[in-house]
Amino acid sequence: MAPANARAGPSRQRASSPVEDSEAETSRRPRRGEQTGHTNGVAPSNGSAPANLTSDGWTIDTFKSLPLAKTGVVSSVFRNLDDRLKDTLGRVDDGLEKTREAAKAFEDAQEDDPAVEELDAAFRRLLEVREELRIKIRVLTEMAAELRQEGELVDPDKIYQERAIRATKEYRNKSQRAKFQNLPEYQDFRAQIWEINHPDDACPPVSRWLPKERDEESDEDIEIGATTQTYRCPITLLQFVEPVTSNKCRHSYSRAAVEGLIATAQGKRAVKCPVAGCMATIEKKDLEINRNLAKRTAEHAKRLQRRQEEEEEDPENLLDLTQE
Ligand SMILES: [Zn+2]
Repeated sequence: MAPANARAGPSRQRASSPVEDSEAETSRRPRRGEQTGHTNGVAPSNGSAPANLTSDGWTIDTFKSLPLAKTGVVSSVFRNLDDRLKDTLGRVDDGLEKTREAAKAFEDAQEDDPAVEELDAAFRRLLEVREELRIKIRVLTEMAAELRQEGELVDPDKIYQERAIRATKEYRNKSQRAKFQNLPEYQDFRAQIWEINHPDDACPPVSRWLPKERDEESDEDIEIGATTQTYRCPITLLQFVEPVTSNKCRHSYSRAAVEGLIATAQGKRAVKCPVAGCMATIEKKDLEINRNLAKRTAEHAKRLQRRQEEEEEDPENLLDLTQE
């Protein structure tokens, strides 16, 4: 005979799944699975819970009862949705960072490793998810503000349809190039991968990694970007130390060097940005500490040092250098 406490069956109701972790904090209503004593492993159909809540924390049914009046319940619905969307957005951002770091690791191990292109596609999908979440958050925020101002929202379902769904459709219809070629995060993603094996060349325009779709002939002309990522301060010509970036022209400098430049001018004349071709002036109030650049400068230095050590250890590399 089995001991009595084992007869309750396999203890599955606390099976920890990723879903449970990620949705841990929304406490106001009972979560699915929480009060179930069933042990057959099948998710209980819990009639009282909002049935088809999506992973975005949102469902069209949420807005079905028309019109929305300005009540505590309604504004807490908005707040709850907004919180959940923002929480999801945070997780998407984590995913973007991990995907980028993984792609860099593959590229570092082997130039043009096919995994990099797979991770690139994953990175773009995440950026799409993020954009669609942002559209929803924007529309919800607008609707909540209108509700506050006007006291009620007539036909909120229709308002949502018109705004969020239309904006999402428009976004989905854009080509990969239209979505990404001027998106700073994507440019930065490609630049960070590129510089690993091409430390001395500027990263090409990112359109080369984006599929060309019909009617997209020569839009390279309008593409901005193609930045040379250097890790040298344009003033000292040495590697950045505590880099700061100007809000005006997005150029970066070592902090002490640029502050020295500003101090020398003593406020009597404008300090011109020392980057060739840049017409911006620099003022102290425009400078902000750039931790991302500091981190990448350190990574770059580490990489250079490791490569140098590898070359010193491996006599074959000396031969390679004489070829070409
Ligand atoms: Zn500049």
